Amino acid sequence: MKIKAILTVMCAVATAAVMPTTASAQAFPTKPVTLVIPFAAGGPTDLLGRALAQSMAAALGTSVIVENRTGAGGTVAGGVVARAQADGHTLLLHHIGMSTAPGLYRKLAFDPMKDFEHIGQVADVPMTVIGRPGLPAKTPQELIAWMQKEKQTANLAHAGLGAASQLCGMLLQQSIGAQSTTVPFQGTAPALTALLGGQVDVMCDQTTQTIPHIKGGKVQLYAVTTPERLKPLPDTLTLREAGLKNFEVVVWHGLYAPKGTPAPVLAALNTALRKSLKDPALVKRLDEVGVQVVAENLQTPDGLRNHLKSEIDRWGALIRQAGTYAD
Ligand code: ASP
Repeated sequence: MKIKAILTVMCAVATAAVMPTTASAQAFPTKPVTLVIPFAAGGPTDLLGRALAQSMAAALGTSVIVENRTGAGGTVAGGVVARAQADGHTLLLHHIGMSTAPGLYRKLAFDPMKDFEHIGQVADVPMTVIGRPGLPAKTPQELIAWMQKEKQTANLAHAGLGAASQLCGMLLQQSIGAQSTTVPFQGTAPALTALLGGQVDVMCDQTTQTIPHIKGGKVQLYAVTTPERLKPLPDTLTLREAGLKNFEVVVWHGLYAPKGTPAPVLAALNTALRKSLKDPALVKRLDEVGVQVVAENLQTPDGLRNHLKSEIDRWGALIRQAGTYAD
């Protein structure tokens, strides 16, 4: 299924005013930039993408259009951008799923290392473990006991194989030795709607999406997936504190362009990314929902490339151990 939601962010500066008059490699941008998001509109990746699009539009002097290309845990979007024209006008914002896809999918339409130019890392987003209203478990320990008792009658929602919610759910099940029934969605926005409606029981999701529902008392919050407690949820236990040793899922994000995008265009995109990540309005807005903009040395091609490579190795080993694959 392809969901297309478009946001056009008009920039205060007219494109024509900043474009060079002669055609050259530096003549970028010459039209609106499309930022492809691999998950459904209204979810965490979409939220971060739209916030980034707004700041990038101002930094680039053109509109940035957000396009949601969902499916197969984010890998549909990866294939779309890998095959797009390499002129800097089509970009991909993807998360940790870029590093798990090679381990999870036997037939992957792209190589995350070879088929992209790596522009820079963007931000880290923690996850929370939440449950539907009325779930009998009230604490993380009770949730673990409930999942161990219910086994496959417990429904665990996620955003498709390779999504952060699926990885988090996979680690949770592994750590507690209980296999629930997993229910995939096109993103965690529709998954959360199902959880709020009581159609699924439990899920992991980024704080960007869950904090408003937690504060509104609409979902039950059990724990955070980070090694340390979170500033916006200071009284909530980490899964480590709840007894799951070494548990950690932090959703990191990177910005990508198709392989072969000219170097001056990549430099302009990286400059715009770094400028956006210094935008105080963006940083404040993200901070309130637990998002941490990455350190400046990671907002670089090497910062993304090196992290992606080490994450591909780390998750490849964990995935082989779990024996989870898609054909
Ligand atoms: N939170 C989702 C995930 O589990 C992605 C999304 O819908 O943004 O990866």
